[in-house]
Amino acid sequence: MYTCADCSILACAKEERDSLPANCPMRDEALFADIRTAYEEPETRKFYVTSSAIEAEGYCKWPRLKETIEFCKRMEYRTIGLAFCKGLKKEAKVVAGLLRSHGFTVVSVICKTGGIPKEDAGIPKDKKIHPDSFEPMCNPIAQARLLNSQHTDFNIALGLCVGHDSLFYKHSDALVTTLAAKDRVLAHNPCGAIYCAEGYFKERL
Ligand code: SF4
Repeated sequence: MYTCADCSILACAKEERDSLPANCPMRDEALFADIRTAYEEPETRKFYVTSSAIEAEGYCKWPRLKETIEFCKRMEYRTIGLAFCKGLKKEAKVVAGLLRSHGFTVVSVICKTGGIPKEDAGIPKDKKIHPDSFEPMCNPIAQARLLNSQHTDFNIALGLCVGHDSLFYKHSDALVTTLAAKDRVLAHNPCGAIYCAEGYFKERL
């Protein structure tokens, strides 16, 4: 089992191969040689080198939104899909407008598309937010399929719920980047709870 999260040696980040922990994944050199070939596939190479160049150029200067736009430009994408949560409708409009101002065609699909009652998807009444009201299900598979039907070059996920985002990633034909991770309590900043996990949030986690 790999336990990088608990490693205090971090030999991988220092070019120090003689001090690898006993369960370090880097001990499997054949595996890493095989993985390395995956980056040789031309489309993956372009994607990976471009994203790494963005990482370096924008390092501590560009917000993720700018990084995303720059990445789309350098990848020469034309049509961008935007899968967003109804709770971030205003933000989706801003993002779509900004992308358009940079020359992209933007296809946007809200999570509630389909307007299907949650009950129809097997969600019991007592698991709804407002049990006695109409609540449309979030429909990440529809979001993915609708963007697929428009042949988007790249998709952006904006504020999709935990798990709904996973289904969207799984069903999207185009690769996906996440612009914002949904966190209704922390203004979509899940790291806030991590930073305070041993303090103010201790009893809430
Ligand atoms: S890859 Fe190896 S050295 Fe790096 S964090 Fe994981 S266990 Fe530690």
